[in-house]
Amino acid sequence: VKERGRNGLAFYQPGMLDAVRTRLSIENALRHALEEDEFELVFQPQVDSDSRPVGVEALLRWNRPGYGRVMPAEFIPVAEDSGLILPVGNWVLRTACATLSRWRHLMPGNPTLPLSVNVSPRQFFQADFVPHVLDCLGTYGLSGNHLELELTESVLLDDIVETRSKMRELAGHGIRFALDDFGTGYSSLRYLQQLPITTLKIDQSFVRELRTNDDNTAIIRSILSVAQHLGLKVVAEGVETDAQARLLDDLGCRIHQGYRYSVPIGEREFLAWIGSRGA
Ligand code: C2E
Ligand code: CA
Ligand code: CA
Ligand code: CA
Repeated sequence: VKERGRNGLAFYQPGMLDAVRTRLSIENALRHALEEDEFELVFQPQVDSDSRPVGVEALLRWNRPGYGRVMPAEFIPVAEDSGLILPVGNWVLRTACATLSRWRHLMPGNPTLPLSVNVSPRQFFQADFVPHVLDCLGTYGLSGNHLELELTESVLLDDIVETRSKMRELAGHGIRFALDDFGTGYSSLRYLQQLPITTLKIDQSFVRELRTNDDNTAIIRSILSVAQHLGLKVVAEGVETDAQARLLDDLGCRIHQGYRYSVPIGEREFLAWIGSRGA
């Protein structure tokens, strides 16, 4: 009995308590991260088949004192559960617009690359999401066609009426929408038609295991065929190797994002990268 008890304790206690403590500590630290200016956006280009940049995704990083650079997988779920994703998401949008306006001034005459920003479902469904986005654009004198919002399929399943009206209102201002992690959820093809979506981002899992003539090839083929019928752009994410890039090109998927071209980098480095590509 004693032994079993000890095992029971060993099973329940340490790991679980640690997980709860870690979560609470992240949540508490996140509360101050905005005031202390600990967030940062990094940028990853999307390129066409000539390796020319055609877009760029903003990705969030948290420079947490004593921990170094914390990746989104570690704090976005905590931010979502605690509601902190709302102020954090607002910061991301405002900072993305500030960045775009800087780039416009740095590269006069050049059409600014559209910047894609990730929006979590909770943020999208917040009551004043639409006015907030428009306010961010207005503050920096930007028109909506500089901005693309990346939504996941879960948004489409939630409240299609609200989703449609919000997306249409923003699209009316020129803002574009991408469906992120496409192929992993259950979005009905009908929604693709009813909503102002312009881009599908093929989830990295299909690209990572891509081989000639395997299931992933079949899935990518069918995504491309749907996209072609509906007039949507397709971006393959997580492209790391020459072999993956070649297979994707052969399938007709020509816009790529991934470590093969660039890891996500800071603004200064990104501008240098763009400069070297002659964009
Ligand atoms: P995501 O939107 O699917 O972003 C793509 C992720 O793949 C990024 O991870 C990027 O760094 C990574 N990646 C890019 N190329 C490659 C590659 O070739 N190989 C591999 N293995 N990975 C690659 P990251 O930056 O850690 O972000 C993870 C997720 O966190 C994002 O997935 C997105 O869902 C979320 N996220 C990031 N920034 C934000 C944000 O500002 N707001 C919200 N709500 N979520 C964000
Ligand atoms: Ca994304
Ligand atoms: Ca994705
Ligand atoms: Ca993701």
